[in-house]
Amino acid sequence: MTDVEDRATAGFRSAYGQEPAGRWAAPGRANLIGEHTDYNDGYVLPFALSLRTVVAAAPQDGDRWTVWSETTDGQIEFVAADVDEPGRVTGWGAYVAGVVWALREAGHAVPGARLAIASDVPLGSGLSSSAALEAAVLTALVDLGGLDLPAERQPRLAQRAENAYVGAPTGIMDQSAAIRCRKGHALFLDCRTEEVEHIPFDLDAAGLAMLVVDSRAPHRHADGEYASRRKSCEAAAATLGVPALRDVSVADLDAALPKLPDDETRRRVRHVVTEDQRVLDTVALLRAGRVREIGPLLTASHASMRDDFEITVPEIDTAVEAALAAGALGARMTGGGFGGCVLALVEAAAAVTVAQAVTDAYAARGFTAPGHVTVLPAPGATRLD
Ligand code: ADP
Ligand code: MG
Repeated sequence: MTDVEDRATAGFRSAYGQEPAGRWAAPGRANLIGEHTDYNDGYVLPFALSLRTVVAAAPQDGDRWTVWSETTDGQIEFVAADVDEPGRVTGWGAYVAGVVWALREAGHAVPGARLAIASDVPLGSGLSSSAALEAAVLTALVDLGGLDLPAERQPRLAQRAENAYVGAPTGIMDQSAAIRCRKGHALFLDCRTEEVEHIPFDLDAAGLAMLVVDSRAPHRHADGEYASRRKSCEAAAATLGVPALRDVSVADLDAALPKLPDDETRRRVRHVVTEDQRVLDTVALLRAGRVREIGPLLTASHASMRDDFEITVPEIDTAVEAALAAGALGARMTGGGFGGCVLALVEAAAAVTVAQAVTDAYAARGFTAPGHVTVLPAPGATRLD
């Protein structure tokens, strides 16, 4: 397959018989650490992947948007009247129409445009192809229209597209990562204040790499399980008399846990509270340039998700165990759980061996073969040319 940038350009030419005015790209993301902390007002630490969604685009007359995507192999068109009534554009087109809608809602004069999209981000694997699509389209439209919308205000707008137009109740992490990440850095995001800080995370310079294993596990009851975890955290915060579990520290745990009604709730709270601390500890190590030493924190995060938060599945646990046994410095599930991807921090030279060990462990258990790709922390949304 040719390069994603070339595919977007070729798609644009064949869909519209003209040259694009420019190309824009936005990355998929993985959360390095900090799982189920976002809705507890806590901390997350995503980084952008070298897997990207590219939009080739040119203005067109009138309030009309025509969109072709290689990924879904389809072309859609909508006008302002469709956009202004959420629900009229459905399916994958809603992610694009949602961005136009959110921009218009915020008072921006969005230029009509022809768009062609190609992507290397796998859909529905938990690497946030949805935010990559929103961010790539948003950056293209802001640029084409010369709109006054600084990068720090863009994540909210893209999130609004996904929450209010597509109807998916996501937090601010995915869009923040797709838009604001920097190459060689992770994005330390405080989900209460929405403040971000760029934390050095230059794997390449350290001779390291991140192996991303797509577990290919079917997402079993993920929506219902997510809702029940969230409810349990909110109820626990209320019992403890704090606005959110973010307000409980590791030092408070011994006093806090006995106040909770049952063992399950105690374990849910322990996960969130210790996970916030692991994010802070990871940030401290990265700031000090001690990248290799974050491995045990990643692995501890996994154990906490498996034993206390109970959101892992056998495929995921198998991948983590096999990666660690093959020499990974640390490994954990990333994303909401019940499937999705595993991150394994590896010496760059060991990536192939570790990936093979995971594949072998899967075969021995009779699981559908996993996917894998090695990534480095990449930049957020940007204009290419
Ligand atoms: P994730 O964000 O984890 O990949 P989601 O379910 O949130 O999974 O988003 C996936 C959806 O986003 C797809 O089903 C599709 O509707 C849309 N999407 C993402 N990338 C593209 C693309 N390149 N072309 C068309 N639709 C896309
Ligand atoms: Mg998504």
